[in-house]
Parts: sequence; C-alpha cells; structure tokens
Amino acid sequence: MPDCLFCKIRDGKIPAKVIHRDDTCLAFDDINPQAPTHVILIPLVHVETVNDLTSEHRELVGHLTVAAAKVAKERGHADGGYRLVMNCNRDAGQTVFHIHLHLLAGRPLLWPPG
Ligand code: 5GP
Ligand code: ZN
Repeated sequence: MPDCLFCKIRDGKIPAKVIHRDDTCLAFDDINPQAPTHVILIPLVHVETVNDLTSEHRELVGHLTVAAAKVAKERGHADGGYRLVMNCNRDAGQTVFHIHLHLLAGRPLLWPPG
C-alpha cells in the first residue's frame, strides 16, 4: 500500500523508534505518546481495519497480542498493568488505516475511556 503511513514505517521509508521486529509484526514508539509507554504494534501485512480481518488472520492477531505482552513485560509494566487498544473506524478515532495495537502504560488509565 504505497500511501499507507505504517507500510512506509515498516519499509523504513519513514523513521520510527523500532522496539521489536519479527517475521510477522513491528513495534515502535508512538510519535504522540498518550502515556509514558505508548507503543504501536502493526502486522507486516497491510490490513485496513479490524472489519477486514478474516479467520486467516487469527494467528496474526494473536501474534500481535503476544508481542505486546512481551514489550509490556520488558518495559516493567506486567505487574502495574497496561492497556491494549485497537481502534476501528471513525467513532473509535482510527486515523491510520493499517491495523495496529496500542500498548499504553506507565500511568493510571481511566475507564471508561473518553
Ligand atoms: P489510531 O488513531 O489510528 O488508532 O492510531 C494512530 C497512531 O499513530 C496515533 O497514536 C498517532 O500518534 C500515531 N502516529 C501517527 N503518525 C505517526 C508517525 O509518523 N510515526 C509514529 N511513530 N506514530 C505515528
Ligand atoms: Zn499499510
């Protein structure tokens, strides 16, 4: 997807502070962090929204969650806790249309979210 911001980060065309990369996903710091830890985890394959997921993506989505938990543990948030968020479309505030998991941690997070 030539115009996709996160595809460009995946391909190294836009710089990002990469934390983790494997054969399925990439994790990097959010450019506008909403918490002391705010990491974005993307699948290497381009999928626009959660609505586009099929049963073929089950392993992919599980992989993202396991990778997020690994980063959270490495950053010392396992016991204190953290939040994983995947926004879908307008009402959830999705702005980049390449699915991604937000890992937020390092401060108390309100519930319900705004
Ligand atoms: P969404 O609102 O789609 O769920 O999340 C998109 C996230 O991508 C936002 O938290 C935003 O700050 C982050 N973001 C947007 N542009 C860039 C960028 O160029 N680099 C990085 N690292 N994050 C970005
Ligand atoms: Zn993309």
